[in-house]
Amino acid sequence: MSLKSEYPQLEIDLKKLRENIEAMKLLCDRNGIEIAAVIKGFSGIARCVREYEDAGVSYIASSRLEQLEEAKNAGIKTKTMCIRIPMISEADDLVSVADCSLESEISVLCKVDKAAAAKGRIHEVILMADLGDLREGFWTTEELIEAALITENELKNLELVGIATNLGCYGSIEATAAKMNELIERAEAVEAVIGRKLKYIGGGATTSLPRLIDGDMPERINLLRIGEGIIYARDLPDFFNCDMSFLNNDVFTLKAEIVEIKTKASHPVGNITVDAFGHKNTYEDRGMRKRALAAIGKVDYCDFNDIYPRMKGVEVIGASSDHTILDIEDAECELKVGDIVEFDIRYGSGVFLTGSSNVKRVFV
Ligand SMILES: *Cc1c(COP(=O)(O)O)cnc(C)c1O
Repeated sequence: MSLKSEYPQLEIDLKKLRENIEAMKLLCDRNGIEIAAVIKGFSGIARCVREYEDAGVSYIASSRLEQLEEAKNAGIKTKTMCIRIPMISEADDLVSVADCSLESEISVLCKVDKAAAAKGRIHEVILMADLGDLREGFWTTEELIEAALITENELKNLELVGIATNLGCYGSIEATAAKMNELIERAEAVEAVIGRKLKYIGGGATTSLPRLIDGDMPERINLLRIGEGIIYARDLPDFFNCDMSFLNNDVFTLKAEIVEIKTKASHPVGNITVDAFGHKNTYEDRGMRKRALAAIGKVDYCDFNDIYPRMKGVEVIGASSDHTILDIEDAECELKVGDIVEFDIRYGSGVFLTGSSNVKRVFV
């Protein structure tokens, strides 16, 4: 490829990312908690993963084996964890690129055990308990115990290192101290039958961090899988009323170039049908307004509500696949065609932007 354009561009501040990792690690260390650092929120970009390794997290974790493989290929030595319960068809790949995995099906455990045997490896396993969020995990303690006993006694190439749960993903269930205690109860029921203590009890993801901030995380929770809370640091202040001001929420800067500036009507003129995606929209009539078109669109970030212009007075009012429409009537600075506008991003837009081959990456 010989195209020279630098935009749209995602600028990644590795120093700010590192500061976030260190700050989160300090908070977790103080609470006796190890971090499985989840890298899927930035598509596993290896240069970012390096910062986590250098900061000394316990695991590099992703739902996608491709990202764990990329990390290993980039020379990452930190143990890796597969956090989407694996496809039975990827068992061989799993034991090649993941040192540990979350599991919830006995048939898969048996297949992973065989795959590990074939490679002469011991693969770590964390069994998932579903506490009501209704995504992955064993529903009853009996089922959890059965899987634990099989893993412990029959599957010689697997090491049962812990019990964990996931909350706040499908069922939107809050990670309360009561939920954490319920998880500990289930883990202790497993410990009673296998006759030893488990290394880890994994209390969830970013949505469990309020327990550390509020100081009511039960003591036996000693592992969290943290993605968003380090990378973007926006969900807890925006949705959980949590003060996370000790973290940078501008690790990433999205930059796009302005391709048109015109004063136009704010309400479409003619019969309104559906937009480019077949959706019916409503449009507020604010009279004639100065607008800018930026050369970036939904294919890059998905939802225009998940990108935030940094310049005061600039507002994202809509988007199609490849265009973003900005109201700049009240912009604090004069803008012209060819200028670059900057945006903050969050988890929802970040997963798309880091996954898009159209968006150039620049590290600072
Ligand atoms: C994505 C994911 C995480 C990380 O979630 P964040 O909200 O980004 O911290 C943790 N565990 C599992 C199983 C996940 O799929």
